[in-house]
Amino acid sequence: MTRAFKDKVWLSSPTMHGEELQYMKEAYQTNWMSTIGENINEVERIISEKVGCKYAVALSCGTAALHLAVKLAGIKPGDNVFCSDMTFDATVNPIMYEKGNPIFIDTEYETWNMDPVSLEKAFKLYPDTKAVVIANLYGTPGDLDKICGICEKHGAVLIEDAAESLGATYKGRQTGTFGTYNAISFNGNKIITGSSGGMLLTDNPDAANKARKWSTQSREAAPWYQHEEIGYNYRMSNVVAGVVRGQLPYLEEHIARKKAIYMRYKEGFKNLPVSMNPYDDTIMEPNFWLSCLLINKDAMCKQVRSDSDACYVSEQGKSCPTEILETLSKYNAEGRPIWKPMHMQPIYRMNPFITRDGSGRARTNAYIAGEGADTGADIFARGLCLPSDIKMTEAEQDKIIEIIKSCF
Ligand SMILES: *Cc1c(COP(=O)(O)O)cnc(C)c1O
Repeated sequence: MTRAFKDKVWLSSPTMHGEELQYMKEAYQTNWMSTIGENINEVERIISEKVGCKYAVALSCGTAALHLAVKLAGIKPGDNVFCSDMTFDATVNPIMYEKGNPIFIDTEYETWNMDPVSLEKAFKLYPDTKAVVIANLYGTPGDLDKICGICEKHGAVLIEDAAESLGATYKGRQTGTFGTYNAISFNGNKIITGSSGGMLLTDNPDAANKARKWSTQSREAAPWYQHEEIGYNYRMSNVVAGVVRGQLPYLEEHIARKKAIYMRYKEGFKNLPVSMNPYDDTIMEPNFWLSCLLINKDAMCKQVRSDSDACYVSEQGKSCPTEILETLSKYNAEGRPIWKPMHMQPIYRMNPFITRDGSGRARTNAYIAGEGADTGADIFARGLCLPSDIKMTEAEQDKIIEIIKSCF
């Protein structure tokens, strides 16, 4: 067929505009090469205004924000925490830092996020659970009304991991405002980036002050280094904040570009036995961070995955994520498997996993799509993330679509 791309087509790489360099230079020229400075103050102000939360605390990364959120929620060793199952492991690690016990909640097909029916089920099984962590995967909000309602009913604190969904809205309200404590990320692959960085968002002034204090080694108000509680070095650098500040005016432009990519894929695949990562356009507007594909069950060729390898048997008219990813890679384009669900990860093999009809533990190794697989395992088996880079040209995307068509 066609030749490989001369320049790699990325999954999602940073897209810079020029202002980033200006603000970084300002930090240098004014000597605020520190975790204090104008860039930090400005990004905190702009984000709280844009997102619509009262307080934004700039931190070294989204994981740090989630860690402080878990601490603010009062998670102590042994405490159960309900958590999204199909997510990036940074959603879960902070629960482990505090020695909590993550209980994974299965995914719904409607949004690819935490299933409210399974969450209700989990509260029946573990009624004393005090906190829920939900991630909005690939920039699509979960069913936040239902999730919030369930948390309220059971008196649980909601932590929203909006690391992938900055700028997405649910019923007109921005993600990152639905939890009592919320996290966003400016990691290099996110919708806008600082090269790294993150923020804790909250409406609670005491929580924001605590997060500020904890993130700067928990110094007490005293003439010397005085300490009454454990601290962290989690504050954002003023240089990183300069990059974020330069990116902020382009958030909407990035979202529009990502949406165009998603729609173009959707149109391009309309005659294939596949669907795109779904969302309900009557109540939500994703930020379309990553475009993903789900192959129909009856169009899956045989695919087997172990903990480190995958193989498949090619079949006319059918395909599988492994075949498509290998083919994309051959043409110098980067796709990625769906984030492998946490209940399938060796590190969490002993943690409970709750599905609609009870516990899905016994079916943990459902690597092959089909009857009996839980929703997360099924989407992992049949789905993949497509090249979704903002700088990808229409011609390049057309070629990606052709390459994928050729797999069937
Ligand atoms: C990127 C990401 C994080 C972590 O953000 P960092 O800034 O990389 O620490 C957390 N959760 C999800 C779902 C993410 O995609």
